[in-house]
Amino acid sequence: MAKKVQEVCSFCGRPMPEMFSGLSENVLICRECIETGHQMVATMPKKHNPQDNTLSMDTLPVPSEIKAFLDQYVIGQDEAKRFLAVAVYNHYKRVLQQVTNDDVEIEKSNILLVGSTGTGKTLLARTIAKMLKVPFAIGDATALTQAGYVGEDVESLLVRLLQDADYDVTKAQRGIIFIDEIDKIARKSENMSITRDVSGEGVQQSLLKMLEGSIVNVPPQGGRKHPEQELIHVDTKNILFICGGAFDGIERKISQRMNTQTVGFAAQQEASRVDKNNLLQYIAPQDLRSYGLIPEIIGRLPVLTYLHPLNKEALRNILTEPKNALTKQYKKLLAMDNVTLTFDDDALDYIVDKAIEYKLGARGLRGLMETVMTDLMYELPSHKNIHASQSFTITKEYVEQKLDVQKLVQLKNAS
Ligand code: ADP
Repeated sequence: MAKKVQEVCSFCGRPMPEMFSGLSENVLICRECIETGHQMVATMPKKHNPQDNTLSMDTLPVPSEIKAFLDQYVIGQDEAKRFLAVAVYNHYKRVLQQVTNDDVEIEKSNILLVGSTGTGKTLLARTIAKMLKVPFAIGDATALTQAGYVGEDVESLLVRLLQDADYDVTKAQRGIIFIDEIDKIARKSENMSITRDVSGEGVQQSLLKMLEGSIVNVPPQGGRKHPEQELIHVDTKNILFICGGAFDGIERKISQRMNTQTVGFAAQQEASRVDKNNLLQYIAPQDLRSYGLIPEIIGRLPVLTYLHPLNKEALRNILTEPKNALTKQYKKLLAMDNVTLTFDDDALDYIVDKAIEYKLGARGLRGLMETVMTDLMYELPSHKNIHASQSFTITKEYVEQKLDVQKLVQLKNAS
């Protein structure tokens, strides 16, 4: 009696319960091999397609164009926008430069944005990446630890950038990485011993290597390095790093420095012109050093600029002006249900007043709007009459009714 030949996988050679055949019936593959193959292909570094890269000296936007693009999405922050526009323009000129014989080497201009949380630092960095169509990754300095400690390695930032570049290494190497909360890894005291400050100075040292440009070996799937895993070599030389931080309390360092500098009559006159309510605008590298950033890191972030706290007018504009402003988004959503939505001016003023009163900032505007709009977005589609368009106006009374104290306290606690 003929014995039934057990089918084996043509790849791993094992008899497996579930087998598939493709183009040829004689070649079989088991589920495990398919899954392993899929993972290998998904994480394999891609060959760079030069046509993919749209950035060239002809297409590189000039600073005024970069600023104009930022203006469409970010309210105010003019100084920061101008600094960013120039730094980004110079950075990509440096990246795209032809090899020349002179000895002039254009240095990298990584950027440090100082400003309270929720003033638009991440938004600025993200918008620039969007404009230039370069890969973009965001990381939080507080999550980073020195290699070997529990937490994320600095390389994890590069993994995210690679993912955004669809594993095209050449493309990733021209990307932008935004590192938030850089102030949180400052040394606690200027004179503290290096060995005792694992989270602060240690992370600054690992970041430094990346900022100054080095070849970093990155595990393809992220996470910890695995001895047998083939590593991807990423050169950080042309990656633009934009760092952000609130640097709470740095005004004290700024004012101390300015006081010690003001000696003599002319200096006193100068001091009287100082805008004490917004000392951040006078920020200088020395202040970062007093705050606890190591001089080498400060040196690698040569473009230093600041963001203003958002006042009432700015918050009000954020609701209506940007290309994807919240009010425009709700109007679009409801237009799809054939409803024309309008917002009364005093209704928007009321929302902004509450954002200020409950210290919710720009980030809180979304929660406030969502609270105002949810009932409407729940109910209107049920009464949809596709033949007749309807309209609905959000009045101040309507907003007052939706934003009762209890809801506002909830939003405050969630922020
Ligand atoms: P930061 O990085 O400074 O903490 P974000 O850029 O993440 O702040 O801002 C949080 C949100 O607040 C943004 O997604 C955006 O909706 C809004 N926002 C903050 N600042 C601005 C601004 N200047 N213009 C427009 N929207 C802003």
